[in-house]
Amino acid sequence: MNNKRTERRISVAVDGPSGSGKSTLSRAAAKELSLLYVDTGAIYRTTALHILRRGAAPGDAAAVAALLPEIGISLAYDGGGMQRMYLNGEDVTDLIRTQEVSMAASTVSAHPAVRAFLLEMQRELAQKHSVIMDGRDIGTVVLPGADVKIFLTAASEVRARRRWLELQERGTPRDWEQLLRETRERDEKDAGRTEAPLRPAEDSVLLDTSELDFSQSLERMIEIIRERTGL
Ligand code: C5P
Repeated sequence: MNNKRTERRISVAVDGPSGSGKSTLSRAAAKELSLLYVDTGAIYRTTALHILRRGAAPGDAAAVAALLPEIGISLAYDGGGMQRMYLNGEDVTDLIRTQEVSMAASTVSAHPAVRAFLLEMQRELAQKHSVIMDGRDIGTVVLPGADVKIFLTAASEVRARRRWLELQERGTPRDWEQLLRETRERDEKDAGRTEAPLRPAEDSVLLDTSELDFSQSLERMIEIIRERTGL
C-alpha cells in the first residue's frame, strides 16, 4: 500500500427523494465497486430517535438544539457490509426504521443546528474512505467536490408502490392511499425547506428509475460511476 495512487479517495454522492431506491442501489453498487456505503439518512434518524426519547417536539428548534450535545453517533459495518448505527453506544439500527422516526427525522433535519452538527461527521467519513454516500444534500452541500453526483428519482406513485410492496412482503401492510400521501408529504418537506433543500446539484447525472427494474437501475448506476472514475 505504498503506492500513492491507491490512496486517492473516490467519492460518489447519491441524492434523491425517499423511496427512490437510493440505499438499496447505493449499497449494491458499493459492494460491486469495493467502496464504503454511507447511509446519511440513518444518521438523521438516529438524531431524531434521541429527540423523541427525550420527549422534545421535533419541530421545536431551540429544544432540539439544546439536546444535540448529548448525542454521540457512531457507525460500524458488519460482515455483509450492513451499516449499523449506535446512539451513545447502543445499537439502534432497527429502532430507527419506524414510521414515527421517519417523520421525526424529516422534521428534525430541517433545523440548521442539526445539519451543522452532522456535517463534519459526514465529511470525515469521505476523507477517510472511498465512499458512496446517499442522502438529500450530499452533492450540493456535504461533498460539493464529489467525483460523481447522481440524482436518483422515480415518480411518487412508483416510489410509494415499491414501499407498499416491501411492507406487504414484511408482513406489515399499510393503506395505499395513506402511504402515497405520506410519500408526497415528505417530498414536499424535503424539497420545500429553506435549509439544504432536496434539489439536484448542477453537475449531477439524473437517473430516473420509474421504468427500470432493480438490475437495470444498478447497471446504469455502475456505468455512470465507472465512466467518471475509471473504476
Ligand atoms: O433517507 P431516509 O428516508 O432514511 O432519511 C430520513 C430523513 O432524513 C429524510 O426524510 C430527510 O428529511 C432527512 N435527510 C436529510 N439529509 C440527508 C439524509 C436524510 O435531510 N442527507
